[in-house]
Amino acid sequence: MLADLDSSLDSSARPLESPEALRSKNGSINAHLQTYDVVIVGGGIVGLTCACSLRNSGLQIAVIEAQTAEHAAGRQRAYAFSPVSASILKGLGLWERVGPQLTHFQRVKLSDADYPKAITFRPQDGRSDAVYYSAEHTVLMAALQEAVRAAKNVDYWCESQIVETESATALIVERQGQQYRFQTQLLIGADGARSWVRNLANIKTVGWKYWQSCITAVLKPERPHCNTAYEKFWPSGPFAILPLPNNHCQIVWTAPHEEAEALLNLPEAAFLQALQARYGSDMGALTLVNKPAMFPVQLMQSREYVRAGIALIGDAAHCCHPVGGQGLNMGIRDATALAEVLQQAASRGENIGSLIVLKRYQRWRRTENWFTLSLTDLLNRSFSNRFLPLLISRRAGIWILDSVGPLKRLILQLMTGFFGRLPLKAR
Ligand SMILES: Cc1cc2nc3c(=O)[nH]c(=O)nc-3n(C[C@H](O)[C@H](O)[C@H](O)COP(=O)(O)OP(=O)(O)OC[C@H]3O[C@@H](n4cnc5c(N)ncnc54)[C@H](O)[C@@H]3O)c2cc1C
Repeated sequence: MLADLDSSLDSSARPLESPEALRSKNGSINAHLQTYDVVIVGGGIVGLTCACSLRNSGLQIAVIEAQTAEHAAGRQRAYAFSPVSASILKGLGLWERVGPQLTHFQRVKLSDADYPKAITFRPQDGRSDAVYYSAEHTVLMAALQEAVRAAKNVDYWCESQIVETESATALIVERQGQQYRFQTQLLIGADGARSWVRNLANIKTVGWKYWQSCITAVLKPERPHCNTAYEKFWPSGPFAILPLPNNHCQIVWTAPHEEAEALLNLPEAAFLQALQARYGSDMGALTLVNKPAMFPVQLMQSREYVRAGIALIGDAAHCCHPVGGQGLNMGIRDATALAEVLQQAASRGENIGSLIVLKRYQRWRRTENWFTLSLTDLLNRSFSNRFLPLLISRRAGIWILDSVGPLKRLILQLMTGFFGRLPLKAR
């Protein structure tokens, strides 16, 4: 996996502090010793959120990112970003920088294919000034990278990778041809769905690949999007529209693999014609802003989130169907929950790498994440089903949910993450 990642130079990465040169046990590596309390592998949004939550904790942190800082931040994707994630950014002091660059959803409409009745959520149904937000990867990463670089207790090692391990807490890291010996109490895997740290710990996963793939694209509709997001459940899979700044919208279009591949291979005019049938005519003609891209979709949950000296967060711990925009939001809650557990343990003088401490994080997050994974699976399966009694009860359900306020508020609470235990940073 690492071989696939870009390894060009990153001029913006923080220079390393003058390291002490040591010889390794077998004498073959001339490594420099770096001692940290926590080493986070993966400097994506989740890894950096964890590092940022541990600023001012008194713990010494290293973030190891395989790509250059620019590549890690450059992914062209926008996320449906929950009010709880927004509260966490507020708790981290990043809201003033990020908030104005997010699109605040003034309405979210959930509908069953082209059935005209929809459940409409508005800010007054929830606890926030927006039902949800959309956040671009580049915007979130720029703010997190800036915060991490400014933190005195965090070293941000870009274009770096672990090339050897003596144990989970004694590592050899290579950067620009130079090797460094790392000693740490805790190794955190924030290195995405194909996590190297999860494999190192030999942690097994459960789950399945879906029969669907997902196509994303950014487009510009002719008429204003009015900050309205849509999730339309078609038999082939959910189709979401996220409003973005400059009257752009991102679509997340789920369809069975063959159909998705055929759509992706269509000429632009034919793709737009197929897209318009899903999108509807409310916003007029559509123009593509970027080239559509396709992603596999899976549900995955790690059997354990922790081992002695190891913890997993974000996609390294779990992945879900993109319906309802939950994956990153779960990861952000993992990152802040783990940071909270570690900070409390450190303040009591406990060993932050011990299983007894790390299991507090696992107990907190794993069950809650199971609930969200099950919810996304249930939504995808039940709305893809054309069995007549199910279709009738689903459409009746839409009428009931849209008109019974408390039920609507409960659904919104489940989808926005305001259930279960919130990290202190979100309160
Ligand atoms: C099409 C699509 C749409 C989505 N939409 C939403 C949405 O609307 N809302 C939402 O909440 N979620 C959404 N998700 C899910 C979301 O993208 C992921 O949950 C989120 O990106 C996971 O973040 P992460 O930091 O855990 O992992 P990643 O984003 O995968 O980051 C991992 C980082 O680790 C680095 N890395 C990997 N291996 C190593 C290594 N060995 N050493 C050093 N560094 C390493 C990588 O370079 C990368 O920077 C969507 C997913 C898809 C596919």
